[in-house]
Amino acid sequence: MTSSQIPVAVLGATGSVGQRFISLLDNHPWFKVVALAASDRSVGQKYSQAARWVLDTPMPEYARDMVVVPATTDSVQAKIVFSALHNEIAKDLEPQFAQAGAAVCSNASSYRQAKDVPLLLPEVNAEHVQLVKIQRKQRGWSGCITTNPNCTSTGLTVALKALDDAFGVKKVFAVSLQALSGAGYPGVSSLDIMDNVIPNIGNGGEEEKVEWEPLKMLGKLNDNKIDLADIKFSAHTNRVAVIDGHIVCVSVELGKPVEPEVAIQALRDYVSPLSARELPSSPQPAIKVRDEADRPQPRLDRLTGKGMTTVVGRMRRDPILDLKFVVLSHNTIRGAAGGSIYNAELLVSENLL
Ligand code: NAP
Repeated sequence: MTSSQIPVAVLGATGSVGQRFISLLDNHPWFKVVALAASDRSVGQKYSQAARWVLDTPMPEYARDMVVVPATTDSVQAKIVFSALHNEIAKDLEPQFAQAGAAVCSNASSYRQAKDVPLLLPEVNAEHVQLVKIQRKQRGWSGCITTNPNCTSTGLTVALKALDDAFGVKKVFAVSLQALSGAGYPGVSSLDIMDNVIPNIGNGGEEEKVEWEPLKMLGKLNDNKIDLADIKFSAHTNRVAVIDGHIVCVSVELGKPVEPEVAIQALRDYVSPLSARELPSSPQPAIKVRDEADRPQPRLDRLTGKGMTTVVGRMRRDPILDLKFVVLSHNTIRGAAGGSIYNAELLVSENLL
């Protein structure tokens, strides 16, 4: 570790999102992985034995011989703690790490709705990161918790931000086609998903997350709190037999009538807030618009901008609302591990560690 590198740890390192962290943190310019934590099933084993590696890139050398430790503040000492834990475990453990002085960058939904916890997509709402100052004051923590949204809310919110800034967004109707890796490992049984589409996923909570989380991220930071955006949402969420990459089909009512070409230009012109533009994980570009009538597609487009770019296509008139389009976002990169790393970089660059 060079003297300028920041020690980081991954909780839930063996899982679907944990493996993405291991991969994306390999040779990170600012961060050095010093601890990998998981459940009792894995503790004491070398990472290469404990993790059943499912990514199509090799397991990074640095991780192979690291011994997996328990997810406790005694065993894990790092300035930044990336959490890929399930919600019920994250709910107990993440505050313990924040209290012990770590900046917890979480994928879990446990604290997304807390008023003093930023729900961050830096290319959308980088200024919300300032909420951690209030959080520290109110909770007496030297560390903090920041969260990234549900992987389906992610690309959807990035696209809506560009349209909301340009024209205002009043109503959203969204239908998701979500990849299997979003259900973790081993996830959905093959007999359930082959030859099938499964609605009402995430134990029934997914649609509520997709209908609420964009309101917080598109809301305004006023007097140390977020005023939720005034947008009406309706979402259907479905699991499909794709490995990575969530598609969302979206119809929107805008604040004023807009031709599809004008909306496309607004998406192309969108730039991230200045503070989020040049970080190591900043998506380049934030939004990519595809012109082909049959794109985006998960297999062809999910690695746009190293998996951090939101891909939009099929912008056209909607006979019921104003416009309709399709959004694609890589669920375990932009929608999970890559998003948390981007949030951590924002904390560092804003001197909020
Ligand atoms: P997963 O594949 O099931 O992995 C869960 C991880 O948690 C494993 O490393 C597991 O370790 C560890 N774990 C389980 N119980 C534990 C305990 N008591 N103490 C410490 N570690 C424990 O799940 P995932 O898909 O990666 O999801 C992780 C989190 O990210 C969830 O909150 C999920 O909602 C969220 N998320 C996922 C996605 C996605 O696309 N997958 C996107 C956004 C957010 P063992 O291997 O030792 O059991």
